[in-house]
Amino acid sequence: MFRVVRTAAISAALLLALSGCVGDGKVPDRVIVVGSGLAGHAAAWAALDAGSEVLWIEKNKDLGGSTAIATGTFSAAGTRLQKAKGIEDSVELFAKDLNRIGKGKADQDLLMLYATKSAEVWEWFVDHGLEPSPQSPFIDPVHSPYSVPRTNTPVKNSAAEYCKVLQAAMKPLEAKLTVLKSTRVTDLIQYKGAVVGVKTQGPEGEKDYLGKAVILATGGFGSNFDLIASRLPKYAQLRSVTMPHAVGDGILMAEKAGARLVHMDYLVGYFGAIAEEGKKATGFGSLTSGFAERWKGDVWLSLEGKRFVNEDGDDEDPRETALDAIPEQTAIIVFDQAAVDRNGGFSKLPVRGFDQWLAKGYGVKKADTVEGLAEAFGLPVDAVRATIDQVNADAAAGTDPRFGKKENYPVSTPPFYGIKSYGTIFMTQGGVKTNTRMEVISTEGKPIRGLYAAGEVQGTAQWGGLGYAGGSGNTPPLVFGMEAGRNAARAPGY
Ligand SMILES: Cc1cc2nc3c(=O)[nH]c(=O)nc-3n(C[C@H](O)[C@H](O)[C@H](O)COP(=O)(O)OP(=O)(O)OC[C@H]3O[C@@H](n4cnc5c(N)ncnc54)[C@H](O)[C@@H]3O)c2cc1C
Repeated sequence: MFRVVRTAAISAALLLALSGCVGDGKVPDRVIVVGSGLAGHAAAWAALDAGSEVLWIEKNKDLGGSTAIATGTFSAAGTRLQKAKGIEDSVELFAKDLNRIGKGKADQDLLMLYATKSAEVWEWFVDHGLEPSPQSPFIDPVHSPYSVPRTNTPVKNSAAEYCKVLQAAMKPLEAKLTVLKSTRVTDLIQYKGAVVGVKTQGPEGEKDYLGKAVILATGGFGSNFDLIASRLPKYAQLRSVTMPHAVGDGILMAEKAGARLVHMDYLVGYFGAIAEEGKKATGFGSLTSGFAERWKGDVWLSLEGKRFVNEDGDDEDPRETALDAIPEQTAIIVFDQAAVDRNGGFSKLPVRGFDQWLAKGYGVKKADTVEGLAEAFGLPVDAVRATIDQVNADAAAGTDPRFGKKENYPVSTPPFYGIKSYGTIFMTQGGVKTNTRMEVISTEGKPIRGLYAAGEVQGTAQWGGLGYAGGSGNTPPLVFGMEAGRNAARAPGY
């Protein structure tokens, strides 16, 4: 007979209450998958494919998680598409690139698993009907470039395309699948240290479900601003484009169950976004990252009024790294009327709604003098003046000795414009420690029996280190989700 209790010291009354709640009896020989983004889809399919019953629980009313808004890049080394185009690539080269961008800080076993399995998983999608875009594989211009073209997208550049393929693959196996939507997992149920089920809140109220293994595929915490402020205060000013579900439920539940968390002191603020005063959530339309690629003659100032990076460099990583080091990960993008004319007018500005932002007077400001612009943003006027004087002197000399910008223009023709650009969260880097079987590791360094985690809940730094390599938000949840599903399906029952 199996009685479900918590591992923490438990009173007789609570033990009785829990026992009444979940009932006595055997734990069903099924895998419980929590979350239905890329990782949840991959895990549910793989567990079904390995012959297991699956109970799939999603707190949103629709399946898909972040794929509702995420684009579809997938990085893989050694694919048929690469070979057909004569591109030489290898797992070793992929791993080397990941370590260059991640500064060698990833878990090397997970990084190697990602690099090794990436092509196999990509080909699985292609063989199951995913149509690659004609330009695949390419060097993604938005992120730090890989040394060879390795990034793919589906024809329709949406991460939801991977879910469609996985759902079609699950169709013949659906007799073994139960899906609960609008049902939030609120806690893990443990017995003698092992995880044996979940507590939920759903349309039918509170219910407990038992299973031989639970896979957390609950995503990151980019929309939990209280958690960020309390655990990562350095990043309290970051804005976020992540979805409302991304509040770290799985990370907090795993921590409570004794899991070790990693990289919870690091968060990448991608460059950058305008945001309304007091609002942390923002949208794609307010992103300012296009300035690096598509606008010449802008200067980025820290809140101390100093330049901090080559604004036009073709590698995203130095910009992200530099942004991490400046106060509040916030920059003011400054340019003059000559830049507007040089770049083809306001219609060519790489941010949407410039006029509306200017009218609101918060994210965008205009002034007749550099000093007036500095004052409008509350920047130290003398520091800004000194920086712009240096920019103008560098432009006259045709050089940028500090940051190496190639095209240097003066900022001297009024009026002057400024855009407040916040570092912006797309995904979160800290999460639950796992091994390469996707078993969650305890604070004592041992696997917690019955508990698995895959996807952003692991934290992207665990497989990618301190930096962001293109496709490394989508590919690992798919690769590791499949690993978690397969391994959980093979877990011994109770
Ligand atoms: C705008 C945007 C664009 C992006 N573009 C790219 C890109 O081009 N390339 C790339 O590689 N990466 C990209 N990413 C990152 C990538 O999309 C994510 O890393 C990836 O989708 C995460 O997948 P996941 O399955 O781990 O989590 P998610 O997709 O976030 O799924 C988690 C799921 O778990 C559910 N859940 C959470 N808590 C509970 C609970 N307590 N009970 C039940 N269910 C729960 C959620 O509702 C959600 O459905 C982008 C991200 C964003 C936000």
